[in-house]
Amino acid sequence: MENKKILIYAELKGGSLETSAYELLAKARTLFPAADAAIALAIAGCGIDEALKEAAVSGADLVYGVDSPRLELYHVDYHAEALKKIAETFHPDIFLIPASCTGEELAPTLGLKLRTGVAAHCVDLQVDQNGEFLQMVPAFGGKVIGEIYTPKTKPQIASIKPGMFSVIRQQPRSCKTVLLDDSFLEELKTKIKLRGIEKDEPSGVPVEQADVVVCGGFGIETADNWKQVERLASLLGGAVGSTRPAVDQGWVSGEQQMIGTSGKTVRPKVYIGAGVSGATHHICGMKDSNVIISINTDKDAEIFAVSDYKIVGDGAAVIKALCELLERRQ
Ligand SMILES: Cc1cc2nc3c(=O)[nH]c(=O)nc-3n(C[C@H](O)[C@H](O)[C@H](O)COP(=O)(O)OP(=O)(O)OC[C@H]3O[C@@H](n4cnc5c(N)ncnc54)[C@H](O)[C@@H]3O)c2cc1C
Repeated sequence: MENKKILIYAELKGGSLETSAYELLAKARTLFPAADAAIALAIAGCGIDEALKEAAVSGADLVYGVDSPRLELYHVDYHAEALKKIAETFHPDIFLIPASCTGEELAPTLGLKLRTGVAAHCVDLQVDQNGEFLQMVPAFGGKVIGEIYTPKTKPQIASIKPGMFSVIRQQPRSCKTVLLDDSFLEELKTKIKLRGIEKDEPSGVPVEQADVVVCGGFGIETADNWKQVERLASLLGGAVGSTRPAVDQGWVSGEQQMIGTSGKTVRPKVYIGAGVSGATHHICGMKDSNVIISINTDKDAEIFAVSDYKIVGDGAAVIKALCELLERRQ
């Protein structure tokens, strides 16, 4: 069997590789253990010398870079074109893209540009007994995990939420760095004029970095009850997490704290979930927490299947009682 070629989009943060590059690299190395796939990192940015050096010792076999002032700020047309150029140079079988806020836009854009299929928001990547690449995606409202198999066109593009895979640092390999000529970006016409980027900084501890996450679901029932979720998170020095319905209810603003396939992936020391049913889309984002404590009125709630401690009861009332206990001890 011919060695597979895997390309990974390595996003940059402050000139360094985002953690997602290391997560995808570690996962990619496990896919074809016998055949030793050729893995390349794709870097698109402005002033990327340091990132190229970092990538060269990351454990990848190849690093491709496009360095251009056009890539200083994220711009879908320029970034997609740069990644397309890298893909057309490397000819990967598989192209892995972090499903970050920018990657979520780049993956389908590249699918269109490269005339190939995209499996979005994968929760796992596997290779079957015939050596075929499978992309696991929750389907039918998360009731089943679909195995997406797209053998007809290459590359097979998969987007994966940052945090879905663990970072396992790889031994550096003999690695070739290729810096592509960026003149093609000068010629590219675009209708999008970028004026700047405004960052919406989350308040408090970011949910993906907290040791303790107190997550509320639809079973919290009211905005008033939600204050108990925030109170417990604060008492434990942790972060508030939420499910999709809690966002839809407006109990939390925006999706910064949402956990799951369309939100953040968390691995805290302790995850406390109250009024959370345990839908696959949510479970995918918290199942690797060290200790999982769940509170639900339904003794058969699916969340209990992945929980270490199960409390059958009213979510807001149990959390309020926990807060009072902690406050008495302070
Ligand atoms: C493409 C796609 C992507 C999605 N991505 C995400 C995602 O990233 N994150 C996410 O969370 N969801 C996501 N969803 C939605 C997801 O499928 C579920 O609908 C959602 O996770 C359910 O949230 P919930 O558990 O809060 O609500 P519900 O499923 O309505 O569950 C509420 C739970 O609360 C319990 N309950 C009721 N009253 C009480 C009470 N008083 N005390 C305690 N328990 C009580 C109920 O028994 C029930 O188990 C996605 C869906 C799709 C289709």
